[in-house]
Amino acid sequence: MNNERTPDPTAAAPNERAQAHAAPGTAAQAADKVTQPDCAQIAGSIARQRPHREQHTLDAAERIRRRLRSSTLDAQVTARLKSPCSAKTKMQQKSLELHGVHDLCGVRVVVDTVKDCYAALAMVHDIYPHLPELFDDYIEQPKDNGYRSLHTVVVLPCSHTLEVQIRTHEQHRHAEAGEAAHWRYKLAAHRG
Ligand SMILES: [Zn+2]
Repeated sequence: MNNERTPDPTAAAPNERAQAHAAPGTAAQAADKVTQPDCAQIAGSIARQRPHREQHTLDAAERIRRRLRSSTLDAQVTARLKSPCSAKTKMQQKSLELHGVHDLCGVRVVVDTVKDCYAALAMVHDIYPHLPELFDDYIEQPKDNGYRSLHTVVVLPCSHTLEVQIRTHEQHRHAEAGEAAHWRYKLAAHRG
């Protein structure tokens, strides 16, 4: 969508694009023809854009923070960038080119209640256009490991995408602690 309007510096090299789209065939065959760059190449691409990405992510976090604070929502808002190797894993798992990885840049919003999560989501969608097909409600439908959050992908004025994760403090603690701590907690509760 908006990504195509302006040249996207995240886009793969032209030859990779051609390989990915030239030959008709099954999705699997097409995926085989895509040359997957290694971590170092991805790190290079990301490093070149890093100043811009850092800035647009910080700007977005600040804009979201101001919007939430102008309401009665008490929210913690943090900005983050995906690591190059994490980006590579995602590209491989989903057969994506770098510009197809929509969560290279992210903002996390942590609020008090589930109701606040949806209120914050509405405000984020007020500020930026979002990509509905990439919206995930892991609060309504938690992941198998119990992970809960709202994930939405918004389009910034520079046409880059940014993933916004919205969760409660409790959901955040659970996500940060991970499975091991979750089971440790349950075991301790059982013993107690
Ligand atoms: Zn940007």
